[in-house]
Amino acid sequence: MKTWKCEVCGYIHSGDKPPYSCPVCGADEDCFNVLEINAEKKTPATAELWKCGICNYLHKATESPSVCPVCSASGNLFVPLSITDSPVTQSDDTLRIVVLGGGIAGLTAATEARRQSPHASIRLVSRERSLPYYRLNLTRFLAGDIAEKELQIQSQQWFDEQSINCISAEATLIDRDKRFVYLRDGGQLVYDRLVLTNGAHPFIPPFPGVTRDGVSVLRTIEDARSILKRLTPSSCVVCIGGGLLGLETAGAMARQGATVTVVEGFSSLLPRQLPPRAGNMLQQRLEAQGLTILCGETVKELAGDESVRGVLLESGRQLPADLVIVTAGVRPNSYLARQAGLTVHQGIVVDDRMFSSDPAILAAGDVAEHRGTLYGIWPAGYAQGVVAGCNAAGGRAEFDGLAPSTRIKVLDVDLFSCGQIHPEDASTSLHEQELNGVYRAIFCRDGQLLGAVLYGDTTTAGLLKEIVESGRQISEFPELVTLFPKL
Ligand SMILES: Cc1cc2nc3c(=O)[nH]c(=O)nc-3n(C[C@H](O)[C@H](O)[C@H](O)COP(=O)(O)OP(=O)(O)OC[C@H]3O[C@@H](n4cnc5c(N)ncnc54)[C@H](O)[C@@H]3O)c2cc1C
Repeated sequence: MKTWKCEVCGYIHSGDKPPYSCPVCGADEDCFNVLEINAEKKTPATAELWKCGICNYLHKATESPSVCPVCSASGNLFVPLSITDSPVTQSDDTLRIVVLGGGIAGLTAATEARRQSPHASIRLVSRERSLPYYRLNLTRFLAGDIAEKELQIQSQQWFDEQSINCISAEATLIDRDKRFVYLRDGGQLVYDRLVLTNGAHPFIPPFPGVTRDGVSVLRTIEDARSILKRLTPSSCVVCIGGGLLGLETAGAMARQGATVTVVEGFSSLLPRQLPPRAGNMLQQRLEAQGLTILCGETVKELAGDESVRGVLLESGRQLPADLVIVTAGVRPNSYLARQAGLTVHQGIVVDDRMFSSDPAILAAGDVAEHRGTLYGIWPAGYAQGVVAGCNAAGGRAEFDGLAPSTRIKVLDVDLFSCGQIHPEDASTSLHEQELNGVYRAIFCRDGQLLGAVLYGDTTTAGLLKEIVESGRQISEFPELVTLFPKL
């Protein structure tokens, strides 16, 4: 039996073969790599808390579990943590935890808080009508790869069993003195610990014409439904932004039969994840699939009447469009925290335990800024949510950062990017190889691997991610030297 790891979300599967599709994020079997487990089981006598090395799940016992109950990682991937006594002074029974935001960070925070504290009152507030769902799979839903019901993460029955009270309401104000969250419907919730997991919203550049009908974003299930409602097989769709979300959305629209153009301001695709050479290879591949990709172009105006009819570019070029999807990045929903006087840079500033500048308030996921980083990715929301939920309920857990990694869905392209791809100074060396449509690149400094990119063949993604995350010397990994003989 082998251990397989989903390179999209970190889910671990045990079996002779990878699953047909990942039960957590829906990635297909090609996204699984064999996880080589070398670590010896660590059992220091003093350890009372164990952290899963894959999903950060915390296990309170003198020995690590044999299998992680959250992501199924095997027990030898757990690392021991030392417990300092809980800072929570109230008894378990009276602790009132409010989690604000029902995305992945909110769901995992509420789940972990319940695990830590069986009797605390836990309320999960979301302004979306749906129960928490796999937001990262909205593009697969748009493409018609999965049905809407497959997006749901947990059923209402599960929330009832966990005694997590899901409240569908929008929070409008936090009063830190009274420890109240005020809701738009006039209600208010009192808290002892508040976990802010209210996520991010799409950034929409202020182009003239951006408010016309037919101009959309893709963040929620409602957005996806309204895009599908407007779409016909003869639709001309323009996606503004050639990042991951833009490309996946474009691929989904093309899958539905639409004519699709992607407009990207940078000179190559996925500029944050790929060196230009790999970005160009990806562009050629997507063009061969029928997408029109315009790099180095910027939008001047969205033309039309009540409805959008076209996109006018600064270069003078005009693109017909009856549906424009703006995928120009996201911004944290930091307004509630700003109004409440918490320390906010771009996101809510949190420490390693996910506490904000107020010891009664924690934050996690896309709304949080940890050591200057806004991750904006699913695995970080998951891991930070676990840590925030644990600490909110009186446990002790820390988040020590993640090497961001990327796989692309929907487009039938084998692509992996991990860690630092755009080094800050000249002390970094780039090693690139391209052969028969397979591209590999690594970025090294001081004998360490900072980042890696694979295109065309991603079978070594797991190895490269492990090396980047370990921070160990490249020389400790002879397999890497085999891949890059000139190292
Ligand atoms: C289409 C799409 C595809 C993606 N694909 C990937 C991928 O392949 N890999 C990856 O790693 N990441 C991907 N992401 C990003 C990933 O989904 C996010 O990083 C993750 O969902 C963030 O989770 P979160 O819980 O922090 O915030 P969110 O999921 O944004 O959840 C925040 C919740 O808070 C609610 N809320 C906000 N304000 C209030 C308020 N005032 N009152 C009440 N509720 C409020 C929101 O309505 C929302 O339900 C994708 C995102 C999208 C949109």
